[in-house]
Amino acid sequence: MRCLSCRYDLRELAEDRCPECGRLFDPEDPHTFYTPPNRTSAIRLLLLILCCHIAIIWALFAFQRAGWRTATAYGLIGLFALSWLGTAILLGVIVRRRRREARDTVP
Ligand SMILES: [Zn+2]
Repeated sequence: MRCLSCRYDLRELAEDRCPECGRLFDPEDPHTFYTPPNRTSAIRLLLLILCCHIAIIWALFAFQRAGWRTATAYGLIGLFALSWLGTAILLGVIVRRRRREARDTVP
């Protein structure tokens, strides 16, 4: 919970006014203060996606070594391409949301 104007930490204040810039806020209304994005959840999500990609690459090599049919390998390559496409779209959504949050919080 931080000030919309100067990002001063507003937690545990005696009054609902920023001591740094004087801007008023309502602790019950999230539109009147800035909440920093939760970075740990984004990092966890990216790690999960990375693990999925590693698993698909591992499966591809395993299928190749086992001499499975080409169709299965192409299916996995398709799945791999789709997962990267999904990751790119997801990252785009996250970046766009961050930019919008940053723009909306500028006084
Ligand atoms: Zn302030």
